[in-house]
Amino acid sequence: MALLPTHLRPARLASALLMALAALPAGAADAVLNIYSARHYQTDEALYANFTKQTGIKINRLDGKEDELLERLKNEGDKSPADILITVDATRLEMADQAQLFMPLQSKVLQQRIPDNLRTTNWIAFSTRARVIVYNPRDVKPEWVRTYADLANPRLEGLVCMRSGAHPYNLSLGAAMISHDGEAQTEAWAKGLVKNFARAPKGGDTDQIRSVAAGECGVTISNSYYVARLMRSTKPDERKVMDNVALVWPNQASWGTHINVSGAGILKHAPNKDAAVKFLEYLSSDQAQIYFADGNNEWPAVPGVKADNPALKAMGSFKPDTLNVEDLARKAVQAQKVFDRAGWR
Ligand code: FE
Repeated sequence: MALLPTHLRPARLASALLMALAALPAGAADAVLNIYSARHYQTDEALYANFTKQTGIKINRLDGKEDELLERLKNEGDKSPADILITVDATRLEMADQAQLFMPLQSKVLQQRIPDNLRTTNWIAFSTRARVIVYNPRDVKPEWVRTYADLANPRLEGLVCMRSGAHPYNLSLGAAMISHDGEAQTEAWAKGLVKNFARAPKGGDTDQIRSVAAGECGVTISNSYYVARLMRSTKPDERKVMDNVALVWPNQASWGTHINVSGAGILKHAPNKDAAVKFLEYLSSDQAQIYFADGNNEWPAVPGVKADNPALKAMGSFKPDTLNVEDLARKAVQAQKVFDRAGWR
């Protein structure tokens, strides 16, 4: 057998390849990262561009609705090109985990940066949002609505507007209440809440805030970023909405305001696992934390990092619930059963 020319002999090839790799920026061996994302905000573009600039890893992103992305991942199975799933609400992240879509996260950086209560074995939170009470001061006194429990008080009969009890945001709140107050108390609360409804649940959080501002109802519960978004709006009608409502941080004298998250996990069949770990570590960096949180008017998950967000500043500080996100998410199914029995559709 004729010898290969010297420059094509395996030993030479291997060393040439090593030299080529050494010349590229770190991470360039995994030159691509595929992200399925249920977040698509303008500032997220800078977030992804900076990662590519730092590492040389190109990002392909598929944006979609939370439930559609979950279905897609289940259907694609081990053929999926996706490395990372980014989505919102602990309940949804846990649904992905229960469907065994994630692999365990192994990163000292993430363990050090993200607080214990905001990460699980398989997924991690990168920003937080609060579920706040929004009321109309013409019809409702602030001392009537200091806690979630207050919204079940008969004096608010016909004054409460809520979105569906089947929505993850409300299921997560229900799960937190079950964790702190027990199932029986949470069910009694849900029954009282339903009795106080001004109308059957419909629409999203912003629709509830609009109805409160218009006087169709007196009080509702909303995620904090919807409030911040209305506060920062340049549209006069949206600014007017905020002129007619006031905000309460619920449960400040007890377990704190219910907190939820935006987060991500690395998919079990990720073709570019190393790049995926690098990206999640990058998301925990100070600068990326600010971009990630600010993109949706949320708070950074990493302690000490502060986004310069005028609406969040105006909303002030509060005592957040410190319940572990995994414990929270695992009670969502129980919360759904409780809400069903209470007739909160
Ligand atoms: Fe939302």
